[in-house]
Amino acid sequence: MQASLKTQCCIVGGGPAGMMLGYLLGRAGIETLVLEKHADFFRDFRGDTVHPSTLQVMDELGLIDDFLKLPHDKLQKLDGYFGTTTLRLADISRTGAKHPFIAFMPQWDFLNFLRDKGQRYPKLKVMMSTEATDLLWSDGVVTGVKAKGPEGPIEISADLVVACDGRHSVVRPSAKLDVEEIGAPMDVLWFRVSKGSESESVLARIESGKMMVTLDRGTYWQCAYVIAKGQYEVVKARGIEAFRADVVELAPILKSGIADVKSWDDVKLLTVAINRLTRWTRPGLLCIGDAAHAMSPVGGVGINLAVQDAVATANLLAAKMLKGRLSEDDLDAVRRRREFPVRMTQAMQVIVQNNVITLALKPGSEPIKPPLFARVVNAMPWLQGITARFIAIGVRPEHVHSPEAIS
Ligand SMILES: Cc1cc2nc3c(=O)[nH]c(=O)nc-3n(C[C@H](O)[C@H](O)[C@H](O)COP(=O)(O)OP(=O)(O)OC[C@H]3O[C@@H](n4cnc5c(N)ncnc54)[C@H](O)[C@@H]3O)c2cc1C
Repeated sequence: MQASLKTQCCIVGGGPAGMMLGYLLGRAGIETLVLEKHADFFRDFRGDTVHPSTLQVMDELGLIDDFLKLPHDKLQKLDGYFGTTTLRLADISRTGAKHPFIAFMPQWDFLNFLRDKGQRYPKLKVMMSTEATDLLWSDGVVTGVKAKGPEGPIEISADLVVACDGRHSVVRPSAKLDVEEIGAPMDVLWFRVSKGSESESVLARIESGKMMVTLDRGTYWQCAYVIAKGQYEVVKARGIEAFRADVVELAPILKSGIADVKSWDDVKLLTVAINRLTRWTRPGLLCIGDAAHAMSPVGGVGINLAVQDAVATANLLAAKMLKGRLSEDDLDAVRRRREFPVRMTQAMQVIVQNNVITLALKPGSEPIKPPLFARVVNAMPWLQGITARFIAIGVRPEHVHSPEAIS
């Protein structure tokens, strides 16, 4: 017999958006079920930048002291290396943020932390190894999800379903929501290289025909090598040795550890996409995070936008949910609040794509010249606070206003 469950809110996906929303709704005393298809959060690297906007949210939730006890690295100043010139592009110490740094922390630590802290809320349940496969409908209203769990299929009926299942969402096609593709000229190859005592503040390295980002993670470098869209097979065909040589030419500091990249198994392809839904809702359904808007890795803002969406969702809907069912207009308030920051951030990513990345990926023999914008920002330190604010805090930052139930 098929198992069935009933809950007030069913969240599909336990990434940053789903786990933060689950925490906030559980905290508000709303019966909430988070479904995560994987058995745990220990998966491939998929970004580990916790920005000051998210640290602020953790602070407002009273979680910051415990959170910062988890191992992390701090980054304040973001430098770019263009051909032969190093320029400062952003300085988070100038943003006025309460926690003025990016905390680099494996995403699984962040998600485990939210799950552990959420256990204090009896109304919140996280079901691992449970994959949503389709939506349940009744008269044009989403009334829950079909899922498969370790024990077999389950039907979960819910007053509200929130899709937080990321850029490859199964919910949004089930709901027939249209996706507006903005496009990106590149894909990214992620890998790590072990590190000795050497250190460099440079983040982005750009030379004619080549670009990569190196993040100093204490004992290793987390590297993102940018390639032209769809060229992974071409890069692979040249062989791993040629790839390693390209990397070291661009970032000589990686020379001592590059042997760590033994085969293509050590390299993870991120197919970069920028897109967004034109409509984030159906009656009974809301999409947030990457499920509503996939972000480019430019600025490392995807996790933080997902968290901001979750905070806005709880702010706008939690108190109303405690009183009863929500109309689609109530749900659409989340899009009305969050679409502007999403559009602004994606516009910034497109500007960087068009003015820096496309240029960097064009093969040429001339040494690359830093763009005017980068030279101006480098020359005027106060501008480094503005660029940092855009990346680290973002447009229209959210603060926690959702209720906390007294249990
Ligand atoms: C290689 C890589 C590097 C990145 N680097 C950065 C970075 O440095 N900084 C940054 O901010 N962002 C980065 N990102 C982007 C960032 O990871 C996302 O923007 C962010 O995680 C979005 O959060 P989310 O909760 O909306 O979705 P996701 O993090 O994608 O979470 C979706 C969750 O839903 C689960 N799921 C999916 N389908 C189902 C289903 N049917 N049923 C149940 N569960 C399901 C998934 O297992 C996953 O846990 C990177 C992404 C990748 C892939």
